[in-house]
Amino acid sequence: MGSSRVMDTDLGSNDLAGMVIRNRQDRDSRYNKGQAWQSWSAGPVPEWVLLVPCEGVPFYTNYKAYIPTPGGKRKGFYLACRCENGRNPGAPCLLHDIWRKDSAARQVGRDWRGNSAKPKSKSPYFPREYYGITVVRWSYFHYVPEVEDQGDGTIKIAMRWQQCKDDRSDAELLEDGVDDTDCQLCTENARIMRAVSRVGLESYCRSASERDGQWAREHRRDFGMRRYMNMGPGYFDSLVNAGRELSRKCRCGGEIKTVRYVCPVCRKKKPEAPTVLMDPRTTTLSPDEVSVYWSREVKCPTCGYRGAPYEEVRCTAKCGRPSPRRLWDQPIKLQKQGEDTTTLAVLEKMADIIDIEKLPDSLKKKCVPYNFEEMLSTTTAEQAELLGIPDPYTAGRTDEEDANGDGTVKPTMSRSTRYET
Ligand SMILES: [Zn+2]
Ligand SMILES: [Zn+2]
Ligand SMILES: [Zn+2]
Ligand SMILES: [Zn+2]
Repeated sequence: MGSSRVMDTDLGSNDLAGMVIRNRQDRDSRYNKGQAWQSWSAGPVPEWVLLVPCEGVPFYTNYKAYIPTPGGKRKGFYLACRCENGRNPGAPCLLHDIWRKDSAARQVGRDWRGNSAKPKSKSPYFPREYYGITVVRWSYFHYVPEVEDQGDGTIKIAMRWQQCKDDRSDAELLEDGVDDTDCQLCTENARIMRAVSRVGLESYCRSASERDGQWAREHRRDFGMRRYMNMGPGYFDSLVNAGRELSRKCRCGGEIKTVRYVCPVCRKKKPEAPTVLMDPRTTTLSPDEVSVYWSREVKCPTCGYRGAPYEEVRCTAKCGRPSPRRLWDQPIKLQKQGEDTTTLAVLEKMADIIDIEKLPDSLKKKCVPYNFEEMLSTTTAEQAELLGIPDPYTAGRTDEEDANGDGTVKPTMSRSTRYET
């Protein structure tokens, strides 16, 4: 019903004459809802990170499409899906409306805007699956001023966290000195640290010169930086497979074997006969689907539970408490291989298992998963603004639909891939 309204009236090419293409910064700041949300992705140089899984299903599934701008002069932008890739028809979604319209138009050599396009070409509005997870960059950072060129002849000085080039601990740096450090910022930092370590930060800041006090407050090194990754399917699968390999080792050193996957809720009620969701020996799923089953949301046909499946395992060493090692049990050194759409995650190294509860408070509070639902949720108004078109849904809404009064119709989403059993 909603979508035909879009198709027939509101997206006619005449309406698009005044289409505004926003610059990337505008879009990203809106998409990321401010500074609290910043993404990170592994680069070609390996970096230590700690992954922090979401509660329930470890990865947050979401859908979006990369929309190139016409003419290709500017970079394109991401448009997020609201309808859970069609699984939630109750959530109106401009991305899907336009994808359908664009796909149909491309059959006859047009795009949805009415511009000519290669006949039968693939629509770029096709929503792809993405997987979010919280990441703590597991290294030191300095808080330093950086000069930003505003592009209009003026500059702005902004404080930024910059990765320290020396991975020795504060204690080691104090002990060894910083004569051989690659990190210029550490040289100054160590001078302050020596003084601070004698009298404590607060009293140092009070007694030090204005300049040093300021430095100690602002330029200190800090360990750990909370970010998030939102991974495309190829990258995600390579990470999940690395995690799979890792989880074949028991913490006791033995080998872990999967017995079967059961419903965690039914298991609590009836430990001796829980609902079996997937048995690798009898399943009709493909080997690829079996290997990622642990990382996806499933639905229990008995009790209706939706979430991660419970994996029953045994340990070949018969240790009595088989516990598979997980991707997030220890810092891992991640590297990206490949370019553009064919990047893979490479788990280069892993550290010893850590206990988050025993970390210092300042670091522990960074090891908390982000609320992806809150960050990635979008409204049709936001979708329309990115596309530079009027929002057909808010224009025709009733007060009943818009219970919040803010133009949003609350989606009832659970955004994970499901394997119905
Ligand atoms: Zn959608
Ligand atoms: Zn440094
Ligand atoms: Zn159940
Ligand atoms: Zn074991």
